Amino acid sequence: MATVLIIGAGGVGRVVAHKCVMNNTTFDRIILASRTLKRCEEIQSELPDGAIEIATVDADNTAEVIDLIERVGANIVINVALPYQDLTIMDACIATKTPYLDTANYEHPDEAMFEYKEQWARDEAFKDAGIMGLLGSGFDPGATNVFCAYAQKHFFDEIHTIDILDCNAGDHGYAFATNFNPEINLREVSAKGRYWENGEWIETEPMEIMQVWDYPEVGPKDSYLLYHEEMESLVKHIKGLKRIRFFMTFGQSYLTHMKCLENVGMLGIKEVEHKGMKIVPMEFLKTLLPDPASLGPRTKGKTNIGIVAEGLKDGQKQKIYIYQVKDHEACYAEVKSQGVSYTTGVPAVIGAKLMVEGKWSGTGVFNMEQMDPDFFMEEMNAQGLPWNIVELEC
Ligand code: NDP
Repeated sequence: MATVLIIGAGGVGRVVAHKCVMNNTTFDRIILASRTLKRCEEIQSELPDGAIEIATVDADNTAEVIDLIERVGANIVINVALPYQDLTIMDACIATKTPYLDTANYEHPDEAMFEYKEQWARDEAFKDAGIMGLLGSGFDPGATNVFCAYAQKHFFDEIHTIDILDCNAGDHGYAFATNFNPEINLREVSAKGRYWENGEWIETEPMEIMQVWDYPEVGPKDSYLLYHEEMESLVKHIKGLKRIRFFMTFGQSYLTHMKCLENVGMLGIKEVEHKGMKIVPMEFLKTLLPDPASLGPRTKGKTNIGIVAEGLKDGQKQKIYIYQVKDHEACYAEVKSQGVSYTTGVPAVIGAKLMVEGKWSGTGVFNMEQMDPDFFMEEMNAQGLPWNIVELEC
């Protein structure tokens, strides 16, 4: 039994709160804290009376987070605020010796760089505090890392290539909207592409490489090569790896809007002067776009995220596809959220559950593939994210 402190009451925070309540034999006290209390109140009102407590916190301020952790006596912190808050929340966990989990790697607000460097640099401090930090326990990163570890454990002696394939075939009816935080989403998608081959990172222009992949239960979709953060840890931890790439599907309408916004400077992250005021174009765009949390009741269709791994088993070539399909409307019916928030929030709760139960343990900072994948895979089936494995022709 544990007291869990969830920080961030956005789309993912809603799913985490709902799912922690469904797992209240593990999390017997649940506190949801965020910058804006109204967001927490909305989520609290969707749940049975007394199921969760709420609080405000500015997670950019380590002292405030320390105070909150101590006040509520948290046994674990689930960070589902924004990547900008990772370091301050990690530091608060170190100071209070409280286990930590997040779903996205640290990013500096003024620089669109996704990397684990600053979080990995806290490994010693986590060890000294005797606590575990679990990084990237969402879907991708998160479940995709676990799929790779599962493939490595059960299907291969050596994995030579991995393609991570992320398809969101949901339709929300808007000409343009993002399924999770617009700032984070658009920074990721408009950045240069990058993949890893034979020990080197190879950079591509944004959306330069495209392949059509036939996603089970969804159909063929244009899938574009992007840089994605889980590749940085997987190249360290998967044996024999020669190449890893990440592909995500985008519809033509999304790409046309994004290109146009980029061309006129609306994706800029540096301040500009407007009528005597300083504004950041990307932040202003976020204000104009639909709130991702509002997409829930409108989104129809499915997500399908998985990995294709190819390598050797007992000297024979082997190729497998592990994937998970989720229906947006089923997610909304269960937790009042669309599928992208659902597929992120559920793995966060599973990671926290395994940590609280001691099935995943250790001191220091860990990526998901460093843990035994079997527990996580079992929980995915039990918690609403059943997966499939198929063998493909090599
Ligand atoms: P949202 O923007 O919907 O929610 C973020 C929440 O964090 C908001 O409620 C916001 O508060 C709160 N917040 C922001 N800054 C602070 C702060 N300084 N102090 C306290 N609270 C703060 O984002 P999502 O729910 O879509 O995403 C949450 C996280 O999940 C992000 O880090 C995202 O990158 C990650 N993610 C990971 C995925 C994966 O598969 N691994 C996939 C999708 C998302 P306010 O309401 O006041 O703005």
